Amino acid sequence: MIQKGSVVGISYVLTNPKGEELDRADREEPFQYLHGAHEMIPGLEKALAGLSVGAKKQVTVSPEDGYGNPDPKLVKKIPKDVFPKDFPIKAGIQFEADLGGDGNGMVYTIKEVGESVTVDGNHPLAGQTLNFQVEVMSVRKATEEELSHGHAHGPDGDHDHSH
Ligand code: ZN
Repeated sequence: MIQKGSVVGISYVLTNPKGEELDRADREEPFQYLHGAHEMIPGLEKALAGLSVGAKKQVTVSPEDGYGNPDPKLVKKIPKDVFPKDFPIKAGIQFEADLGGDGNGMVYTIKEVGESVTVDGNHPLAGQTLNFQVEVMSVRKATEEELSHGHAHGPDGDHDHSH
């Protein structure tokens, strides 16, 4: 049963209220996470608690329990010459930068290009209601190492240690 300290593998299809697919994890390549470690959005984690392998569930997550509501302060207008000469300044392009000047780099998406460039640092899914069709593929106890790291490790025990 899924509880705090479980390493869970799920397959899912994520759609928006219009029924457009935004993301998916197939049954052959499930998404793995450590339950209770805030590795995934709270609304989905809550809905999965107590489920067992094979359980299927339709979960609707509000923006508050998902990626939050967009913060208007994260939408900024910046001059074109801030970008490197060879940078493709086009709507939809994403880049990482510390525009707030607080030492924390964030991912921004270019929204509009005019005299200046409008960029948005909100998560692309902020403000959206998310529908997940989930199936629980695996549940196991986390290892000591995973618990101390606060995340699930892959099948070979190796993973990106950039954290
Ligand atoms: Zn680790």
